[in-house]
Amino acid sequence: MRDSFGRNIHYLRLSVTELCNLRCRYCMPEEGICKKRHDQMLTEDEMIRAVRAAASLGISKVRITGGEPLIKPNILSICRRTAAVDGILETAVTTNGIRLPELARPLREAGIQRVNISLDTLDPEKYTFITRRGTLSEALQGIEAALQAGFEKVKLNAVLIGGFNEDEIPALAALTLRWPVDMRFIELMPMPGDTLFSESACLPAARVLEMLPEAVPVKADDGVAKLYRLPKALGNIGLISPLSNRFCSQCSRLRLTADGHLKPCLHSPEELCIKGLDEAEMADAMRRAVLMKPEQCGPLSESGHSRAARPMNRIGG
Ligand code: SAM
Ligand code: SF4
Repeated sequence: MRDSFGRNIHYLRLSVTELCNLRCRYCMPEEGICKKRHDQMLTEDEMIRAVRAAASLGISKVRITGGEPLIKPNILSICRRTAAVDGILETAVTTNGIRLPELARPLREAGIQRVNISLDTLDPEKYTFITRRGTLSEALQGIEAALQAGFEKVKLNAVLIGGFNEDEIPALAALTLRWPVDMRFIELMPMPGDTLFSESACLPAARVLEMLPEAVPVKADDGVAKLYRLPKALGNIGLISPLSNRFCSQCSRLRLTADGHLKPCLHSPEELCIKGLDEAEMADAMRRAVLMKPEQCGPLSESGHSRAARPMNRIGG
């Protein structure tokens, strides 16, 4: 479906939970979030109804995210039913990887084609610091499990944080020499209420290229990521620059939060609630949400923070 600025909106990011087994400092408060009542969240049937409504409008790709999608007890059923919807050609999951050792194979069997796994550091102490509770070895075992499960693509995502993992850019990039994965570096987006990071924590993705002089550009389409490759690498390096090089003109996304709100734009406060609607009503709301998509996400707030009305874990990053 085309939005008001001619962009083809074909990609739904479906958040299936706001909860998480980690507490990454840039995403979630230490105490976690106040668990909502069941009746405030989308049911599995409502999620699938929303995917059907989206497919009827031409959405062909769904990414299942959260919070941490793999802690959702019915995640396999949600994935299987999503992948089976007519018109959905690609189903992917974004995860912190902690539960992949037991779930990678079942997810693949459920029809998930691609997996993105978050990995900000290769230092065990720093991993536990940034996630406030995870262990690096569990995340690495998750990546190994994903590679063995036979997904069409495995990508690793690192949020670039000045003074935290800048020095690890070469080591993280070198994972593409060891594994057939893409390693993507994402600029840190200051979210509402976020006081943890100073301005110097927000590094431009171009810093990655300064530290990888041997990387050469790759002409391939990876949505919003610009691609590069190290000599003899098995996968690409991706740069995702929401701040230094906004990619609003290529935006193809609609987001649905776990509590049933359509977000036309990640960084704008506008939302449309679809909880409790039937499929035709959901499709109607999605049409309106697509037409509400701004041309650009607009300036960040005066403090330089996103104007999204929620933190990342409640949007579905
Ligand atoms: N729990 C899963 C995970 O960590 O991959 C999926 C949800 S998480 C919100 C999705 C992605 O958003 C992760 O790659 C995470 O690093 C990224 N993210 C979260 N907060 C962010 C922020 N403030 N700036 C940039 N990326 C962020
Ligand atoms: Fe959880 Fe993912 Fe947010 Fe980290 S980035 S707290 S793993 S939802």
